[in-house]
Amino acid sequence: MSRSSLESSDPQLWQSVQHERTRQKEGLELIASENYTSAAVLEAAGTILTNKYAEGYPGKRYYGGCEFVDEIENLARDRAKQLFGAEHVNVQPHAGSQANMAVYMSVLQPGDTILAMDLAHGGHLTHGFGLNFSGKLFNFKHYGVRQSDHRIDFDQVVRLAKEFKPKMIVAGASAYPREIDHAKFAEIARENEALFMVDMAHYSGLVAGGMHNSPVPHADFVTTTTHKTLRGPRSGMVMCREKFAKDVDKTVFPGLQGGPLMHIIAAKAVCFGECLAPSFKDYAKQVVANAQVLADTLVAGGIRLVSGGTDNHLMLCDVTAIDLSGKIAEQALDKAGITVNKNMIPYDQRKALDPSGIRIGTAALTTRGMKEAEMKQVGGWILRVLKASSDEAALAKIRHEIAEFATAYNVPGIG
Ligand SMILES: *Cc1c(COP(=O)(O)O)cnc(C)c1O
Repeated sequence: MSRSSLESSDPQLWQSVQHERTRQKEGLELIASENYTSAAVLEAAGTILTNKYAEGYPGKRYYGGCEFVDEIENLARDRAKQLFGAEHVNVQPHAGSQANMAVYMSVLQPGDTILAMDLAHGGHLTHGFGLNFSGKLFNFKHYGVRQSDHRIDFDQVVRLAKEFKPKMIVAGASAYPREIDHAKFAEIARENEALFMVDMAHYSGLVAGGMHNSPVPHADFVTTTTHKTLRGPRSGMVMCREKFAKDVDKTVFPGLQGGPLMHIIAAKAVCFGECLAPSFKDYAKQVVANAQVLADTLVAGGIRLVSGGTDNHLMLCDVTAIDLSGKIAEQALDKAGITVNKNMIPYDQRKALDPSGIRIGTAALTTRGMKEAEMKQVGGWILRVLKASSDEAALAKIRHEIAEFATAYNVPGIG
């Protein structure tokens, strides 16, 4: 557990971890899907629970010695149910992708039609991308956003639902800067006798903190990652109505997975406990306030944002308007110590490996205690980098300024 035993037993590996610690401490993390877990979550993830096999579910395991891991999994389930008001929860999926796979496989047959958001408009690989299991196993049809305002095109959703009669409609996205109207999707699903799943991987922390409407009352299934805005360990979870509980549970195990990662389930329990504390509401509120200030700062500096702004923790910047590509912008920002990812924008004229946009999120910096004033500074650095993207000396100077600035802010688990 302690750092010193790793240092003495495997100095080579330890050195790489040290470098990553320095990177996390000295840089500005703006990848919208990342965050910093608390020291308590980290500690739980690093416990001896990793030694335990616990195939099955609490009270119904295939191995002996599960009395304490049963307590832990029950705690994780109870807290998740309380946090989101879900009828049933399965905390065993190893990641968000496995959670989605579990839902699809629990109630659909290979070849069934699913209607979900287009990856190029903000959707996710597991929503039907051709190289992903989802696109190979199921017949996905995709809706997107309107070209005029970059909001979800509900007329198109209705039209495609009528035309293709999907067995399931999926809402949720990885790169959509606006609040999603779950009630409206639910109505369309109901009218077309489709099951309704929401993948709130990105904004589940905002739902937990009361800053985004909850999909739980509207959807048959809700999946999420636990490591994005929710700020827990790298993992996933499925929630569903009671009538699907048995199907989901037997699809996760033995359908898709073997033994659950009990150390990670313990860390999820800690995360859900933290999300239930009143201070998590303050965190979620600050994430959104910070995104708003950062968006305003970028727009004032001449950057065009997809949909013109943001309602949540993320924004998509079209950098072609300032004669850059997403790849060049990402690389220049990286050289200056600012981490973002290149991203397709709706109706992108460029290719996925060098798209027109970058995606920026405020969840991680907010965890470091940064507020509106810091967001103005961060926005200023981003603008300076984008305007001097090929000036290596300028980027090195900004990197130095940022390292000095960032070091003053705590990173949980690092200090
Ligand atoms: C991140 C994400 C996932 C997948 O999560 P992994 O843990 O990386 O497998 C699924 N759906 C959406 C919408 C996501 O943003």
